[in-house]
Amino acid sequence: MSVENAWKEKELHGRYHNILNNDENIDKTATLSWLTRGGIFPETEGFLCAIQDQIIPTRSYLKYIVKDGNIKTTKCRMCNKGHENVEHLISSCEVLAPREYTNRHNNVAKILHIEICYKLKVIDCKTPYYKYNPKNVAENNNFMVYWDREIQTDREVIHNRPDILIFDKQTKEITIIDISVPAPANIHKKEKEKIDKYLLLSEDMKETWQATCVRVIPIVIGATGEITKNLKRYLQVLDQPFGIHTELQKAAILGTCNVVRKVLNKPAKEQEK
Ligand SMILES: [Zn+2]
Repeated sequence: MSVENAWKEKELHGRYHNILNNDENIDKTATLSWLTRGGIFPETEGFLCAIQDQIIPTRSYLKYIVKDGNIKTTKCRMCNKGHENVEHLISSCEVLAPREYTNRHNNVAKILHIEICYKLKVIDCKTPYYKYNPKNVAENNNFMVYWDREIQTDREVIHNRPDILIFDKQTKEITIIDISVPAPANIHKKEKEKIDKYLLLSEDMKETWQATCVRVIPIVIGATGEITKNLKRYLQVLDQPFGIHTELQKAAILGTCNVVRKVLNKPAKEQEK
């Protein structure tokens, strides 16, 4: 291998390491916990590391790094719009959004829903998330938990359908929870976005539901398993142990690996017309 190639390879491998070290919003220990506690197959582990280091055969990688002469375009092989690089494939492709990203998001949301409902004694056993069908409304004498349900409001509120909503019937407190699995670089931005998104709904519900308090909790897991420093606090508010971040992270990681595998199964070279 030439010195230049060796250097390039080193640079690429170091990319993820740099992200982790330079992003002050990332909880580095928690982010890396899937490697030791995730129970993920070695093959998937290797594949995820390759995704994190951006050394998978996307069209951009093949054209600019491998310099494969057969690759004429870096347009995404799925949507033919965005540039096909790792970030595009794991978080921005409009062809992958409706099914693949939604499934990944819902799996993370289901794990949280199960834990919340179990803690509040709204359900009495924990079903594995991949077999779990959340009820739109689950309740007991003390709590009501909504799943992906539109909230009736007095004023017009565009964002009126959070992933999960908890109503405490005794204290009249409302907790709005919204989940996101964005590109690693966007995790902090996404947390803020989610809080702003439900501001109007919070205000409206305070009046219409005569709630004593409405809080918005963003649960954001990076597409390749990144954990923000805020997650611990948010899980605490939900009365959940921080340890469940490994489960949430694992669902996000497996979802991302599935998405990327699906794309790479399609030939990178443009089909002759
Ligand atoms: Zn695309």
